[in-house]
Amino acid sequence: MVLVPAQPSNPPTVCSRHGNPVTYTASARFRSRPPVWLQAAVAVLVVAAGLPVAYPAARYLDDPDPELYLLILGAGLFAAWLTHNIMVKIVDVPAWGFCPACRARRANLVTAATVCFVLVPVSCALYVPVVLPEQLGDDEPSTLAEIVRWTVLVAPAVFAIAAVVLSAYARWAVVAGGVAGRNGTTVELRRPAPQFAQQVTDQAGLAELA
Ligand SMILES: [Zn+2]
Repeated sequence: MVLVPAQPSNPPTVCSRHGNPVTYTASARFRSRPPVWLQAAVAVLVVAAGLPVAYPAARYLDDPDPELYLLILGAGLFAAWLTHNIMVKIVDVPAWGFCPACRARRANLVTAATVCFVLVPVSCALYVPVVLPEQLGDDEPSTLAEIVRWTVLVAPAVFAIAAVVLSAYARWAVVAGGVAGRNGTTVELRRPAPQFAQQVTDQAGLAELA
């Protein structure tokens, strides 16, 4: 783990992901990870409320329907998301250094996220010609028709989730591979490029000597 001050006196000259010379700087907003207890609480919630939805035998409340568990799960996840956003520490670095490979990585992720976002309404539009006639018709649908129907039904959700996840990975702070420290004044990098780690350690050593 390497710690970089939010306002370094001498910014490293190599990028944190690849260790290549910096050719471009961008403002990066680093966010801290959720605390361990919150991650544990979400894991417990997912098991305690998610399992009974999937397996009726695991339902421990008197109510035999899955809706109550889904409600508990949804409310709990929302509360956890809210708690994280209240507690999150943010470190803004106005000029974090990146190399051409970093920029290419970000550009690819932005393109992939955009494609997924566009495919959400496109796959929703398929609902009309594919799913609606099946529901209106009286004929028993074939297995193939049934598969197509389900694909069209779940596709928008899959593309929407993929788009959100890809946009999260496309953020400069994630390309840099850092998170905000809990104190809110440093950026923590778990596995930076060795060249970057070396520069940061050398500078910290020089600062101590001065
Ligand atoms: Zn790079």
